[in-house]
Amino acid sequence: MRVQIGNQTVELHQGDITLEGVDAIVNAANSRLAGGGGVDGAIHRRGGPAVMAETDAKYPDGCPTGSAVISIGGNLPARYVIHAVGPVWSGGGRGEAELLAGAYRRSLELAVEHDCRAIAFPALSTGAYRYPMDRAARVALSTAIDFLKKNRKPELVRFVLFDAGAYGAFAAALEELT
Ligand code: ADP
Repeated sequence: MRVQIGNQTVELHQGDITLEGVDAIVNAANSRLAGGGGVDGAIHRRGGPAVMAETDAKYPDGCPTGSAVISIGGNLPARYVIHAVGPVWSGGGRGEAELLAGAYRRSLELAVEHDCRAIAFPALSTGAYRYPMDRAARVALSTAIDFLKKNRKPELVRFVLFDAGAYGAFAAALEELT
C-alpha cells in the first residue's frame, strides 16, 4: 500500500527490514543500545560488529526513550542504521504515545540531517515492548504524515511489517488517516 503526501510517499511493505536497500533503516533499540532480540538482533547479525562498535564509541551513555541516534550500516544494504528507542507499553497512561511519536520524529530528523531520501521503519515497540499494534500503527503513521507535511522530506517513508497482522493494522490505520 502506498499513499502520496504532497510529493512524498508513505509506503507499507511486509517483510524483513534488514533486506531493505534504502538510505537508512531504523532499529528498535533499547536505551542502553546494548543489543537484544527481535529486529535489533537481526540488524546486528546482518550488519556485523562494526555497527555495535560505532554505537559503543559514539553513544557510550545510550539513548533516552523517545529519541534516536544514528550509526553506519556495516554490511547491511542500508547506508545507515538509526537506533530508535520506543517506550515499553504499560497501559497507556505513562506518556507512551508521546514517547513513541518522539522516537519516530527524531529518526526522521536524523534521516533528513544525513540527506537520506528513503527511510524504512519497523513497528517500533510492538514486539518485546508490547505496545498494542493498532495503537502503535496510528502513532507511527500520524507522526510520519505530520513530519512530511511540515518538512517535505524525506522522499520515501516505508514501514516494513514483519507479519500479516502488523501489515493489516498499519493498512487500516493508513486508510483511516488519509
Ligand atoms: P521492541 O522491543 O521495540 O518491541 P522488537 O524487535 O521486539 O522491538 O519488535 C518490534 C517489531 O519488529 C515487532 O512487530 C516484530 O514483529 C518486528 N520484527 C522483528 N524482526 C523483524 C525484521 N527482521 N524486520 C521487520 N520487523 C521485524
